[in-house]
Amino acid sequence: MKKDTPICHYCGRADRIKRHGIGRTGRQRYYCAECKKTFQTYYIYKGKEQNIAHQIERLLAENYTPERISNEMHVRLATIEAHIRQLEGVNP
Ligand SMILES: [Zn+2]
Repeated sequence: MKKDTPICHYCGRADRIKRHGIGRTGRQRYYCAECKKTFQTYYIYKGKEQNIAHQIERLLAENYTPERISNEMHVRLATIEAHIRQLEGVNP
């Protein structure tokens, strides 16, 4: 079942996330009460999202599939896969 809110892209928590209006690109933004940071779940991949790369790495270490990571983070599978390819390139 798909959750209403994604896990935090900074700390990975699922229980402190609130909707936080709509970003400049027209996408839903979220706020983490734990980190006191906002984030969005749609990225035009530019390699600047170190925070989501960190969460992907952590979830992979917990044996999550790319599909499950996509579902938990509400990030498109293609974006997850691009990050995984980059992680594998950086950490052979
Ligand atoms: Zn957080």
